[in-house]
Amino acid sequence: MEAITYSLYGTSAGAREYYNDAAKMADELIDITNEEKTIKEFSRFVKDNGLKSLDDLVYVMEYAMIGILLSKYGSRASLLHQYGGKMLEGVYALKRTGRFARSAVGRLKGIVNTALLVHKGKADSVASSIDVKYFSKLIGWLHATGEFEQETKRLEVWARYFGDKSADSSRILSRAVRVAGWFEQRSLELLGDYTSNVDSFIDNRQSDLKWKENQIFCTRTRVEYHLNMVGAELMNRAFQRDFINTGEKRVLLPICMREKGEKLCRAVQTEHGYLCNGCARDCQVHAITALGKKHNFKVYMIPHASTAFGHQHMEKGDIGIIGVACPLNLISGGYKAKELGYEPQCVLLNYCGCARHWHDTGIVTNIELDRLQAMLQIHGMS
Ligand code: SF4
Repeated sequence: MEAITYSLYGTSAGAREYYNDAAKMADELIDITNEEKTIKEFSRFVKDNGLKSLDDLVYVMEYAMIGILLSKYGSRASLLHQYGGKMLEGVYALKRTGRFARSAVGRLKGIVNTALLVHKGKADSVASSIDVKYFSKLIGWLHATGEFEQETKRLEVWARYFGDKSADSSRILSRAVRVAGWFEQRSLELLGDYTSNVDSFIDNRQSDLKWKENQIFCTRTRVEYHLNMVGAELMNRAFQRDFINTGEKRVLLPICMREKGEKLCRAVQTEHGYLCNGCARDCQVHAITALGKKHNFKVYMIPHASTAFGHQHMEKGDIGIIGVACPLNLISGGYKAKELGYEPQCVLLNYCGCARHWHDTGIVTNIELDRLQAMLQIHGMS
């Protein structure tokens, strides 16, 4: 099948090779950042100041993320008023208050993204001198897009660290941009076969997406796909032990995996998501639900990533979640799950295909079942 943007099949017939390549890229990023004292220093700063602490592997990913976001969006961000982004984020939060608000806010987001955020400044150029103020403007811009809610929360923690190290922060930020340059090149060598259609998708759809809510999400660059792929690998490693130790496990699948369309699918809505009713024998959701019954985990279909976890906080360590999604939702999904007290892991969709973002009518997507089984420690044939 022709990939719309990415496909884990790459140039081979299965997705297994992809997982080896993503692991190799993650190992190399760890090696590169091991030479830095920034990760250790940041980790200590977070603990000393009682801030939300995560694993050092997540900080490795965040360090690369800072450089990549500065490289991709820094010049656009430098033109936005510092507080404009925060204000717009407050407006976007109204989306959660109901269907009417969701549609009105979606329209507003499309207009703001097109008029203010996309065309200002020149993409892919970074200021010669990067300081904390420049970094704060980036955070403001990310807020304003309405697409980076979880990432901006983490970057705000880094902003406090940079503020504390005022003399050295420009050097660290410039170094993060250099690491991002290395990451972009190396990830193209290792993961480029899996994302070969991202650029042509953006070129072909750019004008259709003008004024649309999805504009920034659907035009995220190739290196951002790679960052999410490597970020997912690092988060999986960081959170694996806590996930295994949970008493209840849930698998959250996107609705683009169901074999039949909305009108024919017999899944039933519950407070945690849709439960499959097994109406189609070849449906992978049905197969995974059957596996869940046998191995004692629950399977829910989720209409949209933003509704995946609800808003209720869980008792930390009780529930482990495996989220299945396309790459651009992986890092934010991992942060969100963790914020609400879940212990997350994730599996990538082998390719994207939902009608909401990528395809006019939607195509049925799937995952590498072996990968899911390994995460759930299900060995041998099921
Ligand atoms: S098997 Fe389940 S998920 Fe698939 S179409 Fe039927 S009810 Fe929907």
